Amino acid sequence: MANWPDTLLEFEERFATEKACRQYLFEIRWPSGFRCPRCGGAEVWSTGRETYRCRRCDRQVSVTAGTIFHDTRFPLRTWFRAIWSVTAQKHGISALGLQRALGLGSYRTAWVWLHKLRRAMVRPGRERLSGIVEVDETYIGGERPGKRGRGAAGKTLVFVATEVHDRRIGRIRMQRVNDASEASLTPAVRNNVEPGSEVRTDDWSGYVGLVPPEYRRTIIHRDATIGDDLLPYVNRVVSLVKRWLLGTHQGAVRPTHLDYYLDEFTFRFNRRTSRSRGMLFYRLIQQAVAVDPVTNDALRAESLPKPASVSVVGESSA
Ligand SMILES: [Zn+2]
Repeated sequence: MANWPDTLLEFEERFATEKACRQYLFEIRWPSGFRCPRCGGAEVWSTGRETYRCRRCDRQVSVTAGTIFHDTRFPLRTWFRAIWSVTAQKHGISALGLQRALGLGSYRTAWVWLHKLRRAMVRPGRERLSGIVEVDETYIGGERPGKRGRGAAGKTLVFVATEVHDRRIGRIRMQRVNDASEASLTPAVRNNVEPGSEVRTDDWSGYVGLVPPEYRRTIIHRDATIGDDLLPYVNRVVSLVKRWLLGTHQGAVRPTHLDYYLDEFTFRFNRRTSRSRGMLFYRLIQQAVAVDPVTNDALRAESLPKPASVSVVGESSA
């Protein structure tokens, strides 16, 4: 069942009113039919606002409670447009781009929205990678090349894992790690790769913890035929994510926020073969109604990057 718009025109026609957006959330939140949390009743009245009322016991049920749309001061239509903007474009959208696209008064609002959406991009309990998996680490950010295992000023080390299916890239996972030591890399592999998988690495000592029966480690050695590109699939992913951070986000990503950007890249990359961009829209809304809302306070506690060309409005209106 393709319950999503395929084109911008379809999107605009379908989500032209608050009622239509609310109805869509309702159907996604209760896919097998509404059940009243108090009496188990299956029928509701729409109150015409965020809430529905149980026909049997009069209990009010909010379709946005517990989701990233909770307590928003903006119309759902604006949120839907934001989600469409994030998912319909191949490379996503920057906060500045979103601010312009939606005509938001503040850059901060656009930035906070994108962060809320990024947090919805990780599905709780998602499966780890399996089969043949290439792994490597890479430094992101900063100017100077980093030395492996030592760290480098202004740089963040990121662990990258890539499934290899029939000489093609399958799913990917990325996460920030403190350093390239065994104490950091073994847990990173465990967090992202199913036991029993074949893990391909170079001969770096940080991977000595990958041993049978938990993992089969294949060490790819430098030789004349393959040159320096020992792990071509994971290297390809590394270059794509770096290009995306520099392109779409102009490199303006703080190390403390990097994980969320990596999550967004992963969300889009792992669905790159979807026939319809609308399916990404649907998936993101599905996950957005399933996650805990991130409070504005929690986001405010993190530092907000200031783009050079934009004045940041201090007051949050997210
Ligand atoms: Zn009820």
